[in-house]
Parts: sequence; structure tokens; C-alpha cells
Amino acid sequence: MFESLGGRLEDALSKIRGKARLSEADVELALREIRNALLEADVNLLVVRAITDRIREAAVGAMASRSLTPGQQVVKAVNDELINVLGGETFRITYESKPPTVILMAGLQGSGKTTTSAKLARYFKAQGRSPMLVGADLQRPAAVEQLKTLASQIQVPMFSEWTSPIEVAKAGVAEARRIGRDVVIIDTAGRLTVDAELMDEIAAISREVRPKYTFLVIDAMMGQDSVNTAKAFNDVLELDAIVLSKLDGDARGGAALSVKEVVGKPIAFASDGEKLDNFGPFHPDRMASRILGMGDVLTLIEQAERTMDEEVAERGAKKLMEGKFDLEDFLQQLRQVKKMGSLKGMLSMLPGVPKELRDVEIDDAELGKIEAMISSMTKKERSDPSIIDASRRARIAAGSGTTSANVSALIKQFKEMQKMMRSMGIGPASATKRRPKP
Ligand code: GDP
Repeated sequence: MFESLGGRLEDALSKIRGKARLSEADVELALREIRNALLEADVNLLVVRAITDRIREAAVGAMASRSLTPGQQVVKAVNDELINVLGGETFRITYESKPPTVILMAGLQGSGKTTTSAKLARYFKAQGRSPMLVGADLQRPAAVEQLKTLASQIQVPMFSEWTSPIEVAKAGVAEARRIGRDVVIIDTAGRLTVDAELMDEIAAISREVRPKYTFLVIDAMMGQDSVNTAKAFNDVLELDAIVLSKLDGDARGGAALSVKEVVGKPIAFASDGEKLDNFGPFHPDRMASRILGMGDVLTLIEQAERTMDEEVAERGAKKLMEGKFDLEDFLQQLRQVKKMGSLKGMLSMLPGVPKELRDVEIDDAELGKIEAMISSMTKKERSDPSIIDASRRARIAAGSGTTSANVSALIKQFKEMQKMMRSMGIGPASATKRRPKP
């Protein structure tokens, strides 16, 4: 996401970053490039103007203060400004002291509203809450079924009935109270465009259940259109925040960068994939450093903490030190890494990774292939790959949908890795060597 904007901003800033003295012409040139980069990213024109004005102000200040690093100060100003338009502080959810905390989900059809409702429920569950989903989208018959399926996947109770949207919402909240659920997420109907009927319906639900939060789901891929949608909803509904979906398919970033400034409401959560765990709170500061290529180590660490099984990692490290690390261990570690998501995604969050490298296509399927090959080996083969002869190789290849040459290459690589570990002093051979003489 935001690939081209990030690259262009980096280009613009690289020209002034290290400069000990900035001329007015330097600043104007950089500002022009920043402006074009933002326009190309589909950022609202008024927002572009506001951003560049504020950066100019900071740059003029930096020049006047005779600072030693005026270039750096401009970079910082751009970073601050990106954080600002992305919403500033991370949105914080607070809960009703008298549960349940009711959340109303609004959005156009296809924006990702139903999926996002389930993702949100999953998020609350991971936070130790006991959410409940309510299907009040009776427009699209499949919507209730879809929500039911998603709810059972994440093991969260779901309520719906064929009455009216208002009745369903009301009964849903009552049911949550009765069975002791503390967060209720109500999925409402969407339509293809903003229309009066849709607005009336959701406004009526809102008056009836008095939600603590009203979230509007908008599709990042729709750019400026989704920002206009948000404005229309906000005029009627008094939104609390935006949930941005399909960030994974949004190469430009216009919606994310415009919505706060245009609608005046922050982005609370963002979704960047179809899977239920492709979702989390939206952190303007982290997103800004990601856009500017400064990395997003915090998100990476959080992802690792969430997905890594400490025990498996420790067991792997111990066996590595003992020189007993075999293909079975390798497989387990590989699965840990895979759980963290795509390698390309991880790379994009690391600071200092050059733009060229971030753009490299990394084939996550390669990891899948390795996993398939090791999975097709017997336990004995995994612990001692040297017994793998031609016929075993052919069997493993057939079992994993690869070729004998692939299997050979994997074993060769693994042997080399073992050799390298030994040469680094890891393993039993070196341990004997190091043992003090009696
Ligand atoms: P609704 O009509 O607003 O309830 O939309 P749905 O929840 O049914 O989602 C519409 C489509 O968008 C579905 O195919 C979802 O899988 C897909 N979708 C939702 N969120 C995301 C996302 O963050 N990334 C991608 N790539 N697809 C998404």
C-alpha cells in the first residue's frame, strides 16, 4: 500500500535531507514534488494544499532558525504532517461502565462491512472482551448467513431474526445483556449508493439502541469516492470513526490521507486483507513512518508477539545450540514465520530497507513448497536427511507436488546450513573441542 507515494516522497526529501543549508528554491522544489506526489496519490486537493502550507511554514522556520540540520527538520515536518492528516493519535476505545458497549456498523454494500464486523469481534475477543454480533442487515438475505458463518469461525455468538432491522438491533442488545456479553457489534444494511431510505433506517436504529460508537466502513480502494460517502454519512449519523477496509488493494492511499481532514473523523481500525486476522487498530504515526520508508518496527514486534509461540521458538533455539536442529525443527520454525504473514509485508515494515528491495516480489509460495516437502518426509528422514536416496526423493517429490531436484536442493541447503552452524561453533562437535583438558 502507498508504494508510489512513499517512493516519491522519499525522492523529494532525499534531495534536501542531508543539506547543511537550504535555499528557498530547494524548499519550493521539494514542496512542488511533495504536492505532485500527494495529488497523484489521489489525496483531496484541499488537503494537499493544507499539508503543503504547513510543511512550508515548518521549512521557513527551519531556515530562519539557522538550524544545523534544516533538511532533517523538513523531513520531520513532513512526517508530522502525515501523522496529522492520518488522524494524529491512535483512536482509543473505552467501554461502557454498564455493559454492553454497543457499536453500530454502517457502510455501503461491498465496502467490507460484514467482514469487518466479524474482524472487530475477533479483535475484541483477543482483548479479553466477550463480544456478540448482531445481524441487522435484512436487505441482503445472504448477509445474515455470512455473518453467522464468520461468527462461528471466531466462536462468537451471533443474533438475528426475521423481523425488522430496528427490532433485530434492539432484541440483539437485550440478548447480549441477558447472556452477559459486554460488546455488541451491529451489522446494518448497505446499499450501492447513499440513499434516503438507507440513511433513515440506520438513523432509526441509532436512535433506538443509542450506540456508544458508530463506525463507518469505507473501501480504501475507492479513494475519493469513499471520502465523499463518509461525508454524506457523517452529515446524518454523527460518526465516531472510520474503519478503512481493503488497504491491501490500495496502492495510492488517497482515502486514508484525506478522510480525517475532509470529514473530521479519525480512522480507528484498518483492514488489509480478506482473512479475519488481517485487521487491527490504525496507528497514524506508524503508518506515516511506513510511508516515508522509516519502517514500522512496533507493528512487526506486535505481530510477532501475537503469533509466535514462545515455546516453539525456545525449543528451536535450544536444539540449534545443541547441534540437534533437524528438518523437523526447521519445519516448525518455518511455520512460525509463515504465521506472521507474508515476507514482503514484513520487509515493508523494517526500517532502512531500500525502496528497491521493498519492491522485490518475494514468492511466499517458495516457503509453502519447502513446508510441503518436509511434511512429506518421514520422521526418520527429517532427523537424518542423509538416508534420503533417489527412491525416497521421488516419493517426497510426488507427495509434495515438487520435483526430485527441488528435494535435493532443499537437502543440500539444509546440509550447508548445518555446516555453517558447526563452523560458527554451534553444535556437539565444537562443544567437545571446547571442553577443558583434564
Ligand atoms: P459488505 O457488503 O459491506 O458487508 O461487504 P463484505 O463484508 O461482504 O465484503 C465484500 C468483499 O470484500 C468480500 O469479498 C470480502 O472478502 C472483501 N473484503 C473485505 N475486507 C477486505 C480487505 O481488507 N481486503 C480485501 N482484499 N478484501 C476485503
